[in-house]
Amino acid sequence: MVSQLTDAFARKFYYLRLSITDVCNFRCTYCLPDGYKPGGVTNKSFLNLDEIRRVTRTFAALGTEKVRLTGGEPSLRRDFTDVIAAVRENAAIRQIAVTTNGYRLARDVAQWRDAGLTAINVSVDSLDARQFHAITGQDKFHQVMAGIDAAFDAGFERVKVNTVLMRDVNHHQLDTFLNWIQPRPIQLRFIELMETGEGSELFRKHHLSGAVLRDELLRRGWIRQLRSRSDGPAQVFCHPDYAGEIGLIMPYEKDFCASCNRLRVSSVGKLHLCLFGDGGVDLRELLQDDSQQAALEARIAGALSHKKQTHFLHQGNTGITQNLSYIGG
Ligand code: SAM
Ligand code: SF4
Repeated sequence: MVSQLTDAFARKFYYLRLSITDVCNFRCTYCLPDGYKPGGVTNKSFLNLDEIRRVTRTFAALGTEKVRLTGGEPSLRRDFTDVIAAVRENAAIRQIAVTTNGYRLARDVAQWRDAGLTAINVSVDSLDARQFHAITGQDKFHQVMAGIDAAFDAGFERVKVNTVLMRDVNHHQLDTFLNWIQPRPIQLRFIELMETGEGSELFRKHHLSGAVLRDELLRRGWIRQLRSRSDGPAQVFCHPDYAGEIGLIMPYEKDFCASCNRLRVSSVGKLHLCLFGDGGVDLRELLQDDSQQAALEARIAGALSHKKQTHFLHQGNTGITQNLSYIGG
């Protein structure tokens, strides 16, 4: 029988974000400005296929309905298609999503879909190729755009795009983004820039509240939609003249944590109760054999009783999160 994971604040957890690598080939200014450096926080190998199979099976037994594969850049794993297929073995997991920088989309998206991927988020911070290059350190704008087209061609009816909202970088470009999604079923989600251990200076310079965009959308006749229980934290807005939607992810807004429905497992098998949490609870030793599942379930459920009511970002406390490539944003 499935027992639903619940914490001390009666929040239920339907959604697992699973990081499968820390490696990334981009150098986004707000994440890995100097590029990925092996050995950092985690000088260990990343979860292998059997460990991924076991961890997702256990979360499925605990009521997880949705798994997001993230990183680093998850698609840099050579066995990425096999990872999707391994998660797919769990019938209870109805949604398998990936968050990707889009680098491998054009080449591989059809095969990911065949393996069982149901949803795609692509990170695109600018629709200007030169600015995209400046932000990511990679001259790959056209390749990423071709990847989004390929996702539609492969049969995805909708694609989500993540855009980190940055004052004086892209916050004046709302019209450009809206024109782009007008004919396309893209949910474009502006994410407020979050402060990380390594990104304090950038944060002070470029953080902007998503409320600025929300006011503008409402003024222009956009309508807020309701969310369902395994949805992410985005406030989603639609407009009758647009095929696309706008999402706002505002971790600095009051009560953001009240609707938290997700847990995170890092690429080395640590359970993190919050993106901006503590050192994590080691699960890996219980991922070595199928017979350990009951012990693993107990460890996860036990850890959840320590989940705090909210993050402490407002106090400038970023926990251990030096950058988001470690536990995948
Ligand atoms: N490499 C993949 C990608 O970029 O989509 C997946 C991992 S990335 C860490 C996941 C998401 O976190 C991306 O959409 C990225 O834009 C976002 N992100 C990274 N650092 C951030 C920060 N400091 N503030 C807000 N969002 C951030
Ligand atoms: Fe890589 Fe994603 Fe971080 Fe950009 S946001 S550096 S693509 S992990």
